[in-house]
Amino acid sequence: MKNPFENAMAQLAKVAQIKNFDREFWARMSVPDRDVRISIPVKMDNGTLQIFEGYRVEYNNTLGPYKGGIRYHPDTEINEVKALAFWMTIKCAVANIPMGGGKGGITVDPKKLSKGELERLSRGWVRRLYDILGPHKDVPAPDVNTTPEIMAWMSDEFEKLSGDKTRATFTGKPIDKGGSEGRGPATGLGGFYVFDSLRAQLGLPEKCKVVVQGFGNVGNNAAQIFTEHGHTVVAISDSKGGIYNENGLDIKKLTEYKKATGSLSNFLGSKTIINEELLKLECDLLIPAAFENVITDTNAPNIKAKVIMELANGPITPEADEILFQKGIVVIPDVLANSGGVTVSYFEWDQNLKNEHWSEKEVFDKLLLLMNDAAQKIFKKAKENKTHLRMGAFILALERIKTDMK
Ligand code: NAD
Repeated sequence: MKNPFENAMAQLAKVAQIKNFDREFWARMSVPDRDVRISIPVKMDNGTLQIFEGYRVEYNNTLGPYKGGIRYHPDTEINEVKALAFWMTIKCAVANIPMGGGKGGITVDPKKLSKGELERLSRGWVRRLYDILGPHKDVPAPDVNTTPEIMAWMSDEFEKLSGDKTRATFTGKPIDKGGSEGRGPATGLGGFYVFDSLRAQLGLPEKCKVVVQGFGNVGNNAAQIFTEHGHTVVAISDSKGGIYNENGLDIKKLTEYKKATGSLSNFLGSKTIINEELLKLECDLLIPAAFENVITDTNAPNIKAKVIMELANGPITPEADEILFQKGIVVIPDVLANSGGVTVSYFEWDQNLKNEHWSEKEVFDKLLLLMNDAAQKIFKKAKENKTHLRMGAFILALERIKTDMK
């Protein structure tokens, strides 16, 4: 299997087959502006010193300051961060917000750290990088395993080191530390707005049968929102496994159940299902909302969903993308589907700089407008170029970046 950055570049190469941008532009888009690797020394609770590896990739800032989350995961490595930073560049351009693309991370299993160790590690990441961060330079945010609390520590550390009091350098902060209303559900909600905008055009029924992989911030919120709008979530999974109920799962109760038991299994009225089976279920909409590379050329031929909406970043490999296209399965790509998160992050940055605090309704109304506009423009772009939605999104984004770069 290719690494995530090779997958991202394979996507870029596919655009080149459809759209003739000039050579210099391809050269610029094939490499990040800056790729920083750091070592972060942390004094552990037992008195020993441990060194962690961290990253910040600043991919492209043509449209605005670099923007992108920080991931804490044992498998996080530079190629993953580079790919995510590239996708952020495309995503911000797709959402039509004045932000460029970046991403960061630390190779760590945060579950193995105490709260104090986690705080020292997070502050350490900022200490190594603060001179390249800032409201008009590079604006990080949460991603997998990073929380509003971590953003608050980072924001505080940045303020101490730089003297900048705008709080606009980190987004995804708690509300009382300058966070925006609505950031928590933003990615799931943005995905729902995109789906709702395209549903009829994609030939899906008014009430859909939905399968969700992942039950974290994105998967959980998406499952709740789809259920609230009358769709039926029949299966859902987390890293320990999945559950299925053909009559639909009560997501609110399931959330409480997982909080109490730490797992989804044996939830009332559900059957256990392994993750691989879950991906192959017959449904109107399959939502991968966990990790990258989960739909590959091995399992793509067996997928029976009518439409797949990528709420995770990069869950479908380029080879699988082609197989799904041949099978007539529509993919709503990550760069469009999960752009609600970065859009509300941009709203947070905007509020911080203007010293304003918008209501949740104001945030969601603005989000709806941008998501609807992006979905429809991409649908049109894909049609004009006789290609699928991912290529439509890439072409739209690259045209915007190229125009501005010139
Ligand atoms: P999270 O850490 O809150 O949740 C991840 C979920 O995936 C957890 O429920 C975990 O148990 C589950 N999981 C892990 N391995 C799995 C497996 N093999 N099978 C099934 N489930 C598995 O992370 P998140 O913030 O929800 O992010 C999920 C995805 O969405 C990532 O790809 C992330 O980059 C992307 N994303 C997140 C945001 C955001 O706002 N949080 C925005 C855009 C994109």
